[in-house]
Parts: sequence; C-alpha cells; structure tokens
Amino acid sequence: MPTGVSFHGDRQDTEAAGWRHLLALIEEAAEDGRTVFKPFAELSGSERRQIVTLPPTIAKLTAVEHLVLYGTNLVRLPPEIAGMTSLEVFEPYTSYRLHWYPYELTRCARLADSTVSTRALYGNFKFRPPFPALRPVADVRETDLGALDPGVWGADTIRNCSVCDRPIDHELRQVWISHRIGTDVLPLLVNACSAACVAALPEPHGGYVPTPHTGGPDIVQPGSRRPGQQL
Ligand SMILES: [Zn+2]
Repeated sequence: MPTGVSFHGDRQDTEAAGWRHLLALIEEAAEDGRTVFKPFAELSGSERRQIVTLPPTIAKLTAVEHLVLYGTNLVRLPPEIAGMTSLEVFEPYTSYRLHWYPYELTRCARLADSTVSTRALYGNFKFRPPFPALRPVADVRETDLGALDPGVWGADTIRNCSVCDRPIDHELRQVWISHRIGTDVLPLLVNACSAACVAALPEPHGGYVPTPHTGGPDIVQPGSRRPGQQL
C-alpha cells in the first residue's frame, strides 16, 4: 500500500528577521519597478531558512517579469502570486520543499518559461509520489477559514475561490489538478467555492490523473515514464 503524505505544516514566523527583510525587499522592488526579482539572493543563510511562504504583498510586483526562488526553504506560495501580471519566467528550481503550487498561478497569463525541480512535485511523471488527501467539501460555518492548520489545508487562511475569485462564503471544495504552467506540468491546489467552479476547471494535462481529484493514497495515477520502464 502506498503511504499517505500530508502538507508541510510549517507556519510563517512573521516576527523573524528574514521575513521583515523580505517584506522590505518587496516594497523596494515595487517602488523601483524592477523586472527581475531575486529576493533570496539578498538574504543571509539564516534569514533564508526562516521563510516558508511569500507575503501577500508580492501582488504589488506588477512589473516583475522574472521571479527567481532558487534553493529556498519555501513550502507554499500564496494565491496573491496571481497579481504578478507581468510574470514570464518563474524559477523555483532546487526549492525541494515546494511540492505543489496554487491554482491562481494560472492567472499569470504571460508565464511562458519555468524551471522547477520535477522530482519534488506531487504526482510527477518520474516517481508519481502521492498527493496529500483533501477534504472534498468543508462547511464554512464549521471551519474558520482565517485560522486553518496549514498541515491539513495547505494554508493558514483561505479567502477567495481559486476559480471565480469570489469570497468563499458557504462551502470550500479543495481539489488537485495537474496543469501546464510555463514549461512544466505542475500539481495545482484549487480552493473552489462551489461544485460549479470545480466543474469549470480545464481538463488536466495528458498523462496525469484525468480529472480533478482529492488526492490520498487510493488515487490511481498513470504509470511513471522512466526510460526503459514498462507502463
Ligand atoms: Zn468559485
């Protein structure tokens, strides 16, 4: 039996020096309108290790065309990355704890080139590691979307639907979909507000689980495609 996996449960320490430094670098980049942003190159090693996500203020980086996130300790990216509307080149290469991406990345319409460490990705075609199990439907009256356990939900806060961008106000439906972003097929986490928004998702990329799914060890993935291996 394949074993289950779960999200990294790390919470961002927003008092850490590295986090404050990152916030300042984002403000600086937003002000000078630079097109290449490599924030982790400007942080010390200990500051880099303190950062497990990016702040929502990355949405201000509307001029950035090239985002470099080499060798970070990141475990998740926030949906606000959708605000980086000029993004063309995305390089989270060797960020080995980044196993999935937010569906909102599909809104970066100019994104054409990416460099991702394939073996780190849930469901990647080389090793087909399992996806964390998701709860198919959560009642918002019983679940505080502002105080979630990131080890269970992949975020500590979920506000808007990944598909229609409206506030999630009665139910949350989480699904995985493998979709091409730039030059890679990435496992994307969808936080949908309704069954209609799940139904509106595009067809998953060929060679991956053919429908949006809720992960867990029982999901059957297509065979891996290592050279010389029978499917
Ligand atoms: Zn929706």
